[in-house]
Amino acid sequence: MPELPEVETVRRGLEPAIMGAKITRVLLRRKNLRKPFPKAMKKRLEGLKVISVARRAKYLLVGLTGDVAGDVVLIWHLGMSGQVRIYKKGEKVPRPEKHDHVQIDLSGGVSLVYTDPRRFGLMDLSVLSEIENHPLLKDIGPEPLGRDFTGRVLKERLGARKTEIKLAIMDQKVVAGVGNIYASEALFKAGISPRRQAGKVSLEKANALVREIKVILKRAIKAGGSTLKDHRTTDGGLGYFQHSFAMYDKEGEPCPGCDCNVGRTGGIKRIVQGGRATFYCPRAQR
Ligand SMILES: [Zn+2]
Repeated sequence: MPELPEVETVRRGLEPAIMGAKITRVLLRRKNLRKPFPKAMKKRLEGLKVISVARRAKYLLVGLTGDVAGDVVLIWHLGMSGQVRIYKKGEKVPRPEKHDHVQIDLSGGVSLVYTDPRRFGLMDLSVLSEIENHPLLKDIGPEPLGRDFTGRVLKERLGARKTEIKLAIMDQKVVAGVGNIYASEALFKAGISPRRQAGKVSLEKANALVREIKVILKRAIKAGGSTLKDHRTTDGGLGYFQHSFAMYDKEGEPCPGCDCNVGRTGGIKRIVQGGRATFYCPRAQR
């Protein structure tokens, strides 16, 4: 599933390709993804000019101007399996395949093709001035990489929650876009047990956790960025960062930097929280 770093990578790929370009044609090859496309989407988008390519949590937000009703935003979520391919001037867009659901042509000979085999993706339109109140966005917590996301803010948002900290930091209302693997890794680096009650995480530990969340997301974005240079496609579904995880999928192995006797302790432990796997060290994480 495209996580925040992958979506940010897609955004960084899209921005230079479509900024300032005008949408000349929209091809919708079906009526819906996860939800129906907004009413008259094709008609509303054609003729508009791209003025921003932003991201909020895992939503791409393409700002567009030229609509009689004011500036609008194309809200675009890649779902579980969505990919965006960019075709630049002179590159022929291949004949659509089964899961190529949307094509957006822009001035300057650029085309975007959206592929989504599982169709959990989503496109919606919002008036730019009302974007923060959009139902999909209004309850989302702070951006993890934003300056306003600090240990103190996290601690405040956790309040007296009795849920386990791993589940709490994956809650979009607490902080945006910290996915399962990143949550697991950040908790390890911060030395916090994933099972600890969220409301009982100290300020010191919350500071460490916020720092580690930022570090791991930045690293993943950087890895995505370097991948992007080598590939012409902006692929939302890449698993390129998976190989550099410390804990993930390493049940039974010694955790990095740990001096515990794996023969006796069993090494990295796998548990299931909220239906998702967590990997942690019961010795190093308290
Ligand atoms: Zn350990």
